[in-house]
Amino acid sequence: MSQQGYVAAPPYSQAQPGIGGYQGGFGAPPAQPLYGHYGGPPQGFNAPPAGVMKSPPTSPAGMPPSPVSSQYNPSVQQNGAHPQRYASPSAASPPYGQPSHSVYNNMASPAPPTQQLANQMSAMNLGSYGKSQPLPPTSSVAQQHFQTPAPAMGQPQMHPAPQAPHMASQNQMSPPQSPLTNMLASGQPMGGQSMAGPPMGGQSMAGPPMGGQSMAGPPMGGQSMAGPPMGGQSMTGPPMAGMNMPFPGPPPSGGFPGTSGGLAGPPQKKLDPDSIPSTVTRLGGHVFSTNMRGQVPPLVTTDFTVQDQGNASPRFIRCTTYSLPCTAELAKQCQVPLASVIKPFAKLPKNETPLYVVNHGETGPIRCNRCKAYMCPYMQFIDGGRRYQCSFCNCVSEVPVFYFQHLDHMGRRVDFYERPELSQGSYEFVATLDYCKNNKPPNPPAYIFMIDVSYTNIKSGLVKLVCDELKSLLEKLPREDGAEASAIKVGFVTYNKVLHFYNVKSALAQPQMMVVSDIAEMFVPLLDGFLVNYQDSRAVIYNLLDQIPDMFADTNESETVFAPVIQAGVEAFKAAECSGKLFIFHSSMPTAEAPGKLKNRDDKKLVNTDKEKTLFQPQKGVYEQLSKDCVAQGCCVDLFLFPSQYLDLASMADVPSHTGGSVYKYNNFQVATDGEHFLRDLRKDLQKSLGFDAVMRVRTSTGFRATDFFGAIYMNNTTDVEMAAVDCDKAVTVEFKHDDTLSEESGAFMQCALLYTTISGQRRLRIHNLSLNCTSQLSELYKCCETDSLINFFAKSAYRAILNQPVKNVRDILVNQTAHMLACYRKNCASPSAASQLILPDSMKVFPVYMNSLMKTAPLVGSTELSTDDRAHQRLSVMAMGVEDSQLQLYPRLIPLHNVDVSREAVPDPVRCSEERLSDSGLFLLENGHSIFLWLGQASPPDLIQSLFNAPSLAHLQQEHMFTLPELDNPLSKKVRTIISELLEKRPNSMKLQIVRQRDKLEMLFRQFLVEDKGLHGGASYMDFLCYVHREIRQLLT
Ligand SMILES: [Zn+2]
Repeated sequence: MSQQGYVAAPPYSQAQPGIGGYQGGFGAPPAQPLYGHYGGPPQGFNAPPAGVMKSPPTSPAGMPPSPVSSQYNPSVQQNGAHPQRYASPSAASPPYGQPSHSVYNNMASPAPPTQQLANQMSAMNLGSYGKSQPLPPTSSVAQQHFQTPAPAMGQPQMHPAPQAPHMASQNQMSPPQSPLTNMLASGQPMGGQSMAGPPMGGQSMAGPPMGGQSMAGPPMGGQSMAGPPMGGQSMTGPPMAGMNMPFPGPPPSGGFPGTSGGLAGPPQKKLDPDSIPSTVTRLGGHVFSTNMRGQVPPLVTTDFTVQDQGNASPRFIRCTTYSLPCTAELAKQCQVPLASVIKPFAKLPKNETPLYVVNHGETGPIRCNRCKAYMCPYMQFIDGGRRYQCSFCNCVSEVPVFYFQHLDHMGRRVDFYERPELSQGSYEFVATLDYCKNNKPPNPPAYIFMIDVSYTNIKSGLVKLVCDELKSLLEKLPREDGAEASAIKVGFVTYNKVLHFYNVKSALAQPQMMVVSDIAEMFVPLLDGFLVNYQDSRAVIYNLLDQIPDMFADTNESETVFAPVIQAGVEAFKAAECSGKLFIFHSSMPTAEAPGKLKNRDDKKLVNTDKEKTLFQPQKGVYEQLSKDCVAQGCCVDLFLFPSQYLDLASMADVPSHTGGSVYKYNNFQVATDGEHFLRDLRKDLQKSLGFDAVMRVRTSTGFRATDFFGAIYMNNTTDVEMAAVDCDKAVTVEFKHDDTLSEESGAFMQCALLYTTISGQRRLRIHNLSLNCTSQLSELYKCCETDSLINFFAKSAYRAILNQPVKNVRDILVNQTAHMLACYRKNCASPSAASQLILPDSMKVFPVYMNSLMKTAPLVGSTELSTDDRAHQRLSVMAMGVEDSQLQLYPRLIPLHNVDVSREAVPDPVRCSEERLSDSGLFLLENGHSIFLWLGQASPPDLIQSLFNAPSLAHLQQEHMFTLPELDNPLSKKVRTIISELLEKRPNSMKLQIVRQRDKLEMLFRQFLVEDKGLHGGASYMDFLCYVHREIRQLLT
């Protein structure tokens, strides 16, 4: 590799033979490889048990979707303004196992190469919006370059090709030619065997390994894999013996997808889109009915509608695999983590039915006598309907008299369709007083706005900005559907070294301030008039918000306290006997003498040492206790930070990250350039739907159980997940372990029950149920894996692991586990093929690109160039992410705009995140949910620049052009601004638009998001990573 111009940089600085520069970073393949469990004993690669050949059960979850539409009994209310009728399964929903699902379920069935390609594209999650864009496949490239020193038998001699990874720089301008285009255009299947024939064995590709080249078909595609596309090498060399590879014309160097490991990419010549069946296309407007056990849902990046027919929507729960291994041995053998990512308050699109609310009155929800699972579709009624058997613990309980109902000839209750808790995957129960603190119904929650009025925030204009915004924003507090006003109360505090509380009782003509300077023993100096109903006190609150910026206009105070501010919020909620949320707007490290005082402990010298973990660990003591207090009171903390230097984010964010809160950070905040960005965040945050004072419990059927939990949560014991609040974007990732054998026949069930207080102060239980298949066949397990969920789990477990061990160890574990999972598939599931071929399970074919991207993220990359606070911030924000957000974070969308069809409504299809997809005359948008860039190629056509900026050329763009697009009245300007605002609308966070010109200084910021390329701060390119992983796999297999 060194001859290919690979510049080794930390952490890959110790060049090794073979793959240059890798060992240092990934760790020399340890004699005893570490797998899976951080800190756990290393495990070897296990041989598979003797062939188990049972076929997996495919029985539905026990509820035929009979289209009976009947009215729920009066105890059933519906959330939202939907009609009272229980939507019957629509005619559009396909019956069991129908072809439209086959796309998820029948991965093993032979698919034509184009289908494989389509699968691949969709799995790449690039073409999200139902367009079938013909994308070039990576060709499966010959593998000999791995075989050091001499090529294996039958392999042709290859000319070592120059500079695979850097091909782009040589040939950047020429748009890549699509081999697919070539292939199809020439009508010649590649290699003759591979493309034409059906994939063999459904799993592995292509025909007889041809001299090791196995030209294979679509790369990583379909079932089989091609090989780590070591770019240039294979393609730039002369045609190889035995390859029969009719390449029309000289292979374009930069363009061959092999050079980038590749998948998608913009083809030069468009194919007839209809000639390429695309999974994505088929999913457009697709209805996903949750009537089958273990059904793999559509990818997070696709557009689909969910119909709840007995299992929770994938918007609420996604799993790493939908077919659990029957035994712990099998789980250990494959090392595929078993986990669910649960987003209990996920937003549902308007066309999906909100959850029904079931009210059993004083008796409360019906629960299993033994394990306390809630009534759900998996309970089996017996004995003429008088008793039921729990599907979680098998205990038989009496049916309460009021709940009795006869069974039909199939043994199903005749009121099946009238009761959401019998027919739906997700629903709510109204909780009784037993579920309330002190057996008292809760008070409505409260929001307290706590503004740091120290010198920095006054001077920057932030205080005025917040106060002005609150005046309009408070009108938009979350409210129950149909309610006239929000029940949420509001209160106001300002602070620097001391705290100022405000009495804003509606009867007052002027707000009153009370100062508390005894910050060691925080108390709330007033009860009546502090937390008020906004509608009643609007005039006084307006008055206050107008006055605050002036009151502190001349302040010289630069020191602040922080922990006492949170403590004050907790005390206020305690006094008011309510739960709620604190919105804290803070700018600097709290250095004033007070509990929770922090000092600068940033030390870049610790990076890449065994002590690096201390940079991520919060300072113990005060903040730990504070988290506990907050959770006990149901006090969630949202923190808006405006730092100009290090402020020990790891410690300051400790409370938010244990209370279901969010942390927002605006470095070197300036109202002119960051004001709108911050306000968008504040507006989104304040209006999010959420629940307060929540406890979540995940119950499972016998044989496995939840063992570990990741999220912005607090755990007092091993089972109860406590969250002071949980909003629609927060997810908890739950890991499962076996404690017995699972049965293929009965499958596995999980029930997530979330007890919480609604925004109007009602105590509720939100129940999500999911049934999974169990299998004794590894191939079935791999087939049902979901890469996006897997990577969510890996990200969270790695980000937690770096609190306790060196970052390098964690990276090693990630690589080793990746290799192990893939080697196990290769060994046990794939058809025999040349060892030189990298064969990936279809469901995980893009797993390596995500894994490589994860290892290059700021927390894991171990670079002294990154700010410690930024690394800590990213670590914490990912910990609470759902699958959709972690996917986007690890593989940003790169959207070409120069050829955008202004008449088309949808956002254009993204291309691969690699420098070589850019072109000098192109315009690209890049976004990952946290950042958004508009990149302008240096040869951008003047008419485009004119249309977007009203400037004659790039050189005319001034600084003020770099953060916003002017509102110009032409189709392109409108289209681009619409795309940007749609993306901003869609994401949980605001993103600050940054406009960068090619070769500008700022371009470096942009380039770090091109995750397929070599990392700016270290970290391999996707292709190099694949090569490395492939080598690891081969070592495991020998
Ligand atoms: Zn039970």
